[in-house]
Amino acid sequence: MRLTRALLLAVAFVFLPSVFFSGCAKRSTVPPDAVYRDPAAPIEKRVDDLLSRLTLRDKIDLLSYNKGHRPGLDRLGVPLLDLNDGPLGIGGHPATCFPSGVSFAATWNPELIRQVGEAIGEEAKAYGIDVVLGPCVGIHRLPIAGRNFESYSEDPYLSAVMATAWITGLQSKGVAACVKHYICNDQEFERNLVNVVVDERTLREIYMPPFKAAVKQAGVLAVMSAYNRVNGHYMAENRQLLTDVLKGEWGFEGFVVSDYGGTYSTVPSALAGLDMEMPSPPVYFGDSLLVAVKKGLVPESVVNDKARRILRVMFKLGLFDKQPREGAADTPEHRALARKVAEQSIVLLKNEGNLLPLDPRRIHKIAVLGPKAAQASLGGGGSSETQPTYSVSLLEALRKRLPASVQISYCKGVEFRYEMPVVPGRYLRTPDGQPGLQAEYYRGMFLHGQPVVTRVDTALNFDWGKGSPAPGVPADRFSARWRGKLVAPGTGLYRLGIFSNDGSKLYVNGKLFVNNWGNHHGLLKSRVIRFRQGDTLDIQVTYYELGNKATVKLEWEPLHEEPIDPRAVELARDADVALVCVGLTKEHEAEGWDRESMDLPGGQARLISEVASVNPRTVVILTAGSPVTMVPWVDQVAAVLDAFYPGQEEGNVLYDILFGRVNPSGKLPDTFPRRYSDNPTRPYYPSDNDELVYGEGIFVGYRHYEARGIEPLFPFGFGLSYTSFAYRNLRLSKANLAAGDTLWATFEVSNTGRKAGDEIAQLYVRDPVASVPREPKALKGFRRVHLEPGETRTVRLPVTVADLAFYDPGKHRWIAEAGKFEILVGASSSDIRLRAAFRLRESVEL
Ligand code: BGC
Repeated sequence: MRLTRALLLAVAFVFLPSVFFSGCAKRSTVPPDAVYRDPAAPIEKRVDDLLSRLTLRDKIDLLSYNKGHRPGLDRLGVPLLDLNDGPLGIGGHPATCFPSGVSFAATWNPELIRQVGEAIGEEAKAYGIDVVLGPCVGIHRLPIAGRNFESYSEDPYLSAVMATAWITGLQSKGVAACVKHYICNDQEFERNLVNVVVDERTLREIYMPPFKAAVKQAGVLAVMSAYNRVNGHYMAENRQLLTDVLKGEWGFEGFVVSDYGGTYSTVPSALAGLDMEMPSPPVYFGDSLLVAVKKGLVPESVVNDKARRILRVMFKLGLFDKQPREGAADTPEHRALARKVAEQSIVLLKNEGNLLPLDPRRIHKIAVLGPKAAQASLGGGGSSETQPTYSVSLLEALRKRLPASVQISYCKGVEFRYEMPVVPGRYLRTPDGQPGLQAEYYRGMFLHGQPVVTRVDTALNFDWGKGSPAPGVPADRFSARWRGKLVAPGTGLYRLGIFSNDGSKLYVNGKLFVNNWGNHHGLLKSRVIRFRQGDTLDIQVTYYELGNKATVKLEWEPLHEEPIDPRAVELARDADVALVCVGLTKEHEAEGWDRESMDLPGGQARLISEVASVNPRTVVILTAGSPVTMVPWVDQVAAVLDAFYPGQEEGNVLYDILFGRVNPSGKLPDTFPRRYSDNPTRPYYPSDNDELVYGEGIFVGYRHYEARGIEPLFPFGFGLSYTSFAYRNLRLSKANLAAGDTLWATFEVSNTGRKAGDEIAQLYVRDPVASVPREPKALKGFRRVHLEPGETRTVRLPVTVADLAFYDPGKHRWIAEAGKFEILVGASSSDIRLRAAFRLRESVEL
C-alpha cells in the first residue's frame, strides 16, 4: 500500500506537477480556482465544495482505506490516505524502535513522550504516512493480556496523560494519530468474537478516560474501533459508543476506522458510526454499501457525514496542498531520544545491600546468563513491531564498554522452545476406526454450511504456506474440522496442544481442552493431560485461516522439567557478580493471544534460583511488558531491574544503570501481584463461552489490591533509586472547595542521598465517605523532579472538582459529593508520605 502511494507521488511530483494538483492524470472538469483547492479557504468550506463535486460512488470509494481504483476521486486530485502502524516506532520501514508503551508510562514523563510522538511523526513524514495507527490505550486489567506491553497502564489517569502527550507530539508534525482500540480490547482472548459485558460506571471511570482525553485534550483525528463486542454489539456497530458518546458527547470530528478485518456488516456498521473499513478492498463497505444506499437502507446523508469526516482530516493534514518534502527517520536525535526514554523507564525493584551500581574497578569476573542477554528486546509481537537499523544487547554493551581487565563469561542457561513434536499418525483413528482423522474443509472462517471437501487426513501436521489445503478450498478465509480418536502413547503426564496460524481449538472427550482461537502467526497452546496406556480419547480440532500463511499441527510430549545448562551455574559460582537476563519474547507476549500464565517460561525461574544459590551477588534483569511471577526467586537474589522492552538501545541503557552512569528513576505503571490468582480478573477470565464479564467493576489494578486488602509484591507507582528522597510540608490552597474551583497542593521533595536523581512524586485523591463504593485512592496528579544531592524543590499540583467525581449511571452525570476528601502525596500508591484534608462545600453535578 505504501509502495503504491510512494510511486504515485513520485510520478506526480517528477512528471506531472501541474496535472497532479489540478486533477491527476485524467482530464479534470474542475476549475483551478475551485474552493477546495484554495489553501487559504476555511477547511469546512473546502470540504463542502469538494463534497458537492463527488458522486455517491466517489464518496463510498473514500470510505475504504487506501483503495487503488477510484476514478472519480483521482480525477478530482483526491490523494490516497496512507495508514500505517507505529505506536512504538514506524512499522514496515527502517525506523527508530522506541521502548514499548508500558515503558512510556513508566517514565511518568509526558513531556518526553510528547517528544516521542514528534519523532514518530517525523519518521511517518519521511515515509509519506498520513495516519499512524496508535496509540494503543487499553487498560491493563489482566496481567497476562497479550498487548499490555503496547499500551500504558492499569490506571486511567496515567494512560490518559501519556496518550495525550504522544498524540499531541505526533499531530504537531502534520500526521494524524489513530487512538485504538475503542473500546475494551483489554485482552486478546477471542478478540474477534468476545462480548465484553461492562457496566456504564466502569466504562466511564476506567476504560474511557484515555479515549476521552485523546479526543478532548489532544484533538485526535482518527479512532480505531476494536474487534470485540461491548454489551452485545460489535464495536464497529456500536451506535451508542461510536455515535452517541464519541461523536456526540465528546464532539469527535475525525473519522472512525475499523480494526483490520474488524468490520462485520454493512448497514449496522454504516448506521452506527463507522466511517472507514480496513483493510482494502472493502468487504462490507464499497459495493455492498452502494447497494444499501440505493435500496434506502442507509441514507446518503450518512455517507456524506463519513466522507466529510475523512476529507476534514485530509484537509487538516494539508494533503491537498503543496507540501515541502520533510521528515526524517532513524536520525541521531531519534536514537538518542529512544535511549533517554529507556533510561527513564527502567524500574529498580530491589537492591539489597546497595549491590547496584556496580563498580567496574572492583569486578574482575562477570557472568552474563539467561536467554535474553544476547539479544535486545525490541517489544512484544504483532502490528507494533518495528525494524530498527541496529540494536544493542546487554552482552554486546558489556563486551564493548567494560575495561579489558574484566572477564565476561556468557551462557544462555535455558533455551526457549516454541513447538513440540507432532502426534504421529499411528496414534490417530477416525470415528470408524480407520488410521487418521476425519476431516471437513469449509469456505469461510466459521465452519458454516456444507463442507466443500471431506477426506481422511493421516496426521494433523499441515503447513500449507500461502496455498490452499485442497482443490475447491480457498487459500485464505477457510476453516476445517477434524474428528476422531487419540490413542494414549503410554501412562503418565503429557503436554498436549495445538500449533496454528491462525486460530484453532482442541476438544478432548467433548470438552474444550485448548483454546488457540484468534488471528495470529504460528502459536502453540497446550495443557497437561494424564494418559493411561490403552486409553482412547475422543478428540475434535477446529481451525480457521484468515489470510497469509496457514499452519495447523497437533503436538505432544511427555511432561518434563526444562533442562538447565550446568555451565551457567558454574560460571555464576566463579564470578564476582551474576547478571541473569530473563523475560518474555514476542513469541510469548503478543497481539492475538494472552499468555497462558504469569510464570516465566522455559525453566527461567529455576535458572535464577540455581544461580542465586551459588552467588549471592545475583542481579535479575527482567525484560517483559507485563508482570511475571517472581515469588519463587525474588527473595533469593540481591537486585532486580524491570526493563520492560527497552527498544534498540537496551544494552547501552542497562549498562549505564548497572554501572551507575544513570540513576534508575522509572516507576511501575502496574501493580505486580505476588501470584496470578490475586489479580482482579481471576473470577472472570477466561470464560467458557464468548462472553467476558468485567465483574471487578472499577476495582482494577491498585484499586482492587487496596480495596480487598491484598498485599502486592510491588505496588503501583513503585521504583527505587540509587539515592533517597524526603517529602515535606504539604499545603492546600483551600480548605473548602466549591464548583469551578481548583485547589493547589504544594509540597517539597528533597534529595537526601549522595547521588543526583529523579523522583516521581504522586498525588492521590481519597473520598472516605461516599454513597457508592469508591476506590481507596485514585491517582490525580504526578510530577517527575530532578534533584541534585541535598537539593529541595517545591512541587505544585492542581486538583479540580472533576477529580473528586464518580459517574452516576442513573443520572448519566459525574457527581462530586459534598464532604471531606483527602489528598495523599507519596513515592508510590502504598508509600504515602503526606496527607491533608479539605471539604467540598456542596455536591456538584458535572
Ligand atoms: C491490530 C491493530 C493494527 C492493525 C493493522 C490489527 O490486527 O489490532 O492494532 O493497527 O492490525 O496492522
